[in-house]
Amino acid sequence: MNNIEYLLSDINTINGVGPKTAKLFKKKNINTVFDILWALPRDIVDRSDLVNINELQIGKIQTIKVIIKKYYFPRIRNLPNKVICEDQTGKMECIFFNSYEGYIRKILPINSTVTISGKIGYYNKKYQITNPTHISSNTNSVKKIYSSYSLTEGLTEKKYQAIINEVLKNIPDLEEWLSDKILNKFNNISWKESILNLHDPKNFKKKGHFLNRLIFDEIMSTFIINSKVRKTIKKEKKNSKIFNSISNNYIKDKIGFYLTNDQQNAINEINNDLKSNQKMFRLLQGDVGSGKTIVALIAALNVISAGFQVGFMAPTEILAKQHFDLAKKIFNKNINIKLLTSKTENLEKKRIISELSLNNINLVIGTHSIYQEKIKYNQLGLIIIDEQHKFGVKQRKKLSDKGGVNCDVLVMSATPIPRTMIMTIYGDMDTSIIKNKPKNRKEIKTLSKIDTKLNEVISFVKNNINKDNQIFWVCPLIEESKKVDHQSSVKRYTFLKKIFKNKVGLLHGSLNKDEKNKIISDFLKRKINILVSTTVIEVGVDFPNANMIIIENANKFGLSQLHQLRGRVGRGNKESFCILLFKKNLSENAKKRINILKNSNDGFQISEQDMKLRGYGDLLGFKQSGLQSFRLADPVLNEDLFLLAEKEIRRIESNNLNLDKFFPLIKLYDRADIINDLV
Ligand code: ADP
Ligand code: MG
Repeated sequence: MNNIEYLLSDINTINGVGPKTAKLFKKKNINTVFDILWALPRDIVDRSDLVNINELQIGKIQTIKVIIKKYYFPRIRNLPNKVICEDQTGKMECIFFNSYEGYIRKILPINSTVTISGKIGYYNKKYQITNPTHISSNTNSVKKIYSSYSLTEGLTEKKYQAIINEVLKNIPDLEEWLSDKILNKFNNISWKESILNLHDPKNFKKKGHFLNRLIFDEIMSTFIINSKVRKTIKKEKKNSKIFNSISNNYIKDKIGFYLTNDQQNAINEINNDLKSNQKMFRLLQGDVGSGKTIVALIAALNVISAGFQVGFMAPTEILAKQHFDLAKKIFNKNINIKLLTSKTENLEKKRIISELSLNNINLVIGTHSIYQEKIKYNQLGLIIIDEQHKFGVKQRKKLSDKGGVNCDVLVMSATPIPRTMIMTIYGDMDTSIIKNKPKNRKEIKTLSKIDTKLNEVISFVKNNINKDNQIFWVCPLIEESKKVDHQSSVKRYTFLKKIFKNKVGLLHGSLNKDEKNKIISDFLKRKINILVSTTVIEVGVDFPNANMIIIENANKFGLSQLHQLRGRVGRGNKESFCILLFKKNLSENAKKRINILKNSNDGFQISEQDMKLRGYGDLLGFKQSGLQSFRLADPVLNEDLFLLAEKEIRRIESNNLNLDKFFPLIKLYDRADIINDLV
């Protein structure tokens, strides 16, 4: 077994860990030798405080040196055994539940001098220590400061200490994977030294570079995988696409606005990729409403005019339909565009599949069904994925492979995440960012209201309907159950229907395609003014006439999610409102979060603050993404280390350095499966 194999071997290879103990560890998600190293000390226990009996303090862990004077072994069940001890200043008792007389006589012989440590209690006017575990004739072996770990029933502190000490004793030296220059930034501390020192109680309060080095390792392991994927994709040579790019004037003619500078820049970057002979693997990032769709459609049109087909994947059918409608509006009649979702009739589906294979369809827009196994494109030149932040590196790579060597990839994301997260999640891709939204936008006014004041909201809604404005009314997930979810929206719908009659529509997950489309088109055509929904149309859908969104039970949503919901309005040029309804008795934290939302319309800023309050793991989409999360690294707190790692990766890439020495790191950090897929 080599060093890495040893570290990744089952916990039961450790001396003193039998099947029973192994099971206890596994319950705590500690499966390998390496895992136990990661379970860093939770606290330190200080038994160095050697005091006299008359100085004992109740509730504290203290250590005393005493003479054993007397036993009480009651013959009555459930009564504990008792040992009376004393020093020159007084008497105290050791209480033993469930301990045998013989054992007590052995560890605490009468008249012997022993050192005992434990938590000091007080009962019947006497100091006592209950079930003391730290007893020895050798004072120094008790009088210690040591790390304490999260335990579980059956796994005692003593046992755990013995095991962790055994593991620490046997940590192998690993060949250094960091460069001298980087290592220098961490005071030349090796991986092994870092681990040893982090388990050492004297470093508990100040972990410094011991921790930083390990955090850096963890970030590097992710970045190296990203870099590998990137390199593998870039290595393939594709045929460059030849086209005359669509002009800004053309767009203005078709849809009535000019592209913003940021949009134009993104298009330029994409065009350069398309025209090059390296595969494009690009992320288009921009807050909700920043206008990503049009950028993607222009890319599609350019690729089509170069003689290729394009697949455009949206996360929901509604969104696919909307992209489809927009594409129809922009593109000339001679371009064949089809909509393909899971709801498309079978006959039509078959026809589309056959036409795609014959290169008779230029652009297919749909949900994930457009990249099914059975669909064979004839000349696929571009894959577009909208709002798919739930895709991991592996899935993206797979999709790119499916497209074949001439197929470029464009991923769009509206998840406003800090740069450190982009580097982590999309580090395998190049990025274009749309920073500024189109100028015609009005700020969305965000208000919060206690839901007992619903009548005020209703009269506000009435006013707006009189001006023929339109309103989203969002009923959230009350529980993680579609059924309850559904009921709450039906209830609200029925309530509003009584007031607003046929001006209200209800949209929810269990409607069929026709019903859904009817309601959406009714809303778009302004036949109805209020659209009650669950969060089915969470992202991206464009309703320019809607100027108000009311979100019930708003504290059930994450801030980024609320921001995305809010982004459904304010797309036209009317004054827009977002009303957040709350139940009373909000927590301080919830109040803070509302204020963040009220005070900012910048998705990136909101997500950053949200991360600070909730931790990055809860970030929209990240949890469900199946992406590996970090054990130590925090994209908010460790920004500097992320930036350092990014610089290092760029250096490695531009000098074309061999990555072999990082393999142990990648293996240890469990990213190896991705590497194996690449070979
Ligand atoms: P997102 O980035 O959230 O996908 P969309 O592409 O849906 O945003 O665009 C949001 C709205 O902004 C749409 O109504 C779109 O027509 C409009 N829009 C896009 N670009 C511009 C622009 N340059 N000027 C004015 N409006 C624009
Ligand atoms: Mg969008």
